[in-house]
Amino acid sequence: MPVCRKKPSAEHAPFCSRGCKDRDLLRWLDEGYRIPGPKADAGVDSEDSGG
Ligand SMILES: [Zn+2]
Repeated sequence: MPVCRKKPSAEHAPFCSRGCKDRDLLRWLDEGYRIPGPKADAGVDSEDSGG
């Protein structure tokens, strides 16, 4: 289940958007694996296009 708890999109199910999917992925990645190096913090905010 997505963290944002938004309505999932058929294209990005069970996530609402691609950005949401990437975020969730990075989430468990950080939990399981430890990526050595500088943390890339990029505020990615994609708007939902009419759909
Ligand atoms: Zn979402």
